[in-house]
Amino acid sequence: MNSLYYIQLEEKYGAHNYHPLPVVISKAAGCEMWDVGGKKYFDFLSGYSAVNQGHCHPKIIDALIQQSSILTLTSRAFYNNQLGTYEKYITDLLGYDKMLPMNTGAEAVETGIKLARRWAYTKKGIPENKAKIIVCGENFHGRTSTIISFSTDPSSYSKFGPFMPGFEVIPFNDLDALKEKLNDKDVAAFLFEPIQGEAGINIPDKGYIKTARELCTDANVLMMADEIQTGLCRTGKMMACDHENVKPDILLLGKALSGGTLPISAVLANDEVMLTIHPGEHGSTFGGNPLASVVAIASLQVLVEEKMAENAEKMGIVFREKLKSIQTRFIKEVRGKGLMNAIEIDHPNPAAAWTLCESFMKNGLLAKPTHGDKIRLTPPLMINEKQLLEAVDIIAKSLPVLESL
Ligand code: PLP
Repeated sequence: MNSLYYIQLEEKYGAHNYHPLPVVISKAAGCEMWDVGGKKYFDFLSGYSAVNQGHCHPKIIDALIQQSSILTLTSRAFYNNQLGTYEKYITDLLGYDKMLPMNTGAEAVETGIKLARRWAYTKKGIPENKAKIIVCGENFHGRTSTIISFSTDPSSYSKFGPFMPGFEVIPFNDLDALKEKLNDKDVAAFLFEPIQGEAGINIPDKGYIKTARELCTDANVLMMADEIQTGLCRTGKMMACDHENVKPDILLLGKALSGGTLPISAVLANDEVMLTIHPGEHGSTFGGNPLASVVAIASLQVLVEEKMAENAEKMGIVFREKLKSIQTRFIKEVRGKGLMNAIEIDHPNPAAAWTLCESFMKNGLLAKPTHGDKIRLTPPLMINEKQLLEAVDIIAKSLPVLESL
């Protein structure tokens, strides 16, 4: 079967809520993928950073296969012999009292919002139903109806109302705006991405996260970091907040927690916050299942044992340097941290970034535009220098397609 067959099948029988590049992948390993015709590509999306460890990492796949023939799901109606081990492992590793397991990133965000509100009413003394959560413009935290209620992107929220109240939007990277909002006694939490991924890799000024931490502490407001995309070694540290030695009160994780094998997300917090939710007040059928628990431990171990943060940091420096040395008038900016990078395209045609991604594809690299003129470049974190330089050559070779656009 050729690519067209699979593309037409999805077009006819699938909802049209995505606009994929016209490539049909049938196999992947490490930082490479193959299409149904056997053509090889570098993966520079990594499943939106779910595959930080590289595709089909043998240790993660082995854990998945082993555990799936023993016990996969019990529900939380019973204890299982894997969840506690996972909870201990992740809380020891990341330095929190407790972890609450969920599945998708959006569910972790929802859980964080519920925890912050519950803490606000039971610990901070905010009158019931008055709690506010401060969020940032251009945020991306997922697709649920609550989360899109505070999105500033019309394609996320248009004609999906009515919306959930209780969110206040301030500009990202604006400490004065944060300071002003924190004067409000009804603020429960500040929810933010340490680097905004979907918005096109928006990196805040140095010191932003640290000062935001201090402001939240002074105002008795929970700092809630969405590290679903930035976390788990992507930016060159285990967490992006680690770059400024900041520990959020609520940490949200997802994506690479399973190395791209299962939807696994997690919320971490200390007892003062986590124990405000009691039995029966929150949960998920699949959250914390034994299969996910085993896979999550393996996925975290791979990140640590294979020093993926260090490699992301090192390769990120090489990558940005090489990208900046490409002689072209079409790249306005190269920016990033670790292996979370983007190029911003300078071209009068609004389709330029898409056309360039098609050209990357033709030449053997897969990446996707985010927000029009930005192309996110986020390979798996085990990529080596030789592969990275090959990828830069493909990018350089593809840019001339924009001459004739
Ligand atoms: N938060 C951030 C920062 C994300 O990048 C994403 C997904 O891209 C999410 C939340 C939502 O995760 P999921 O798609 O697993 O619900």
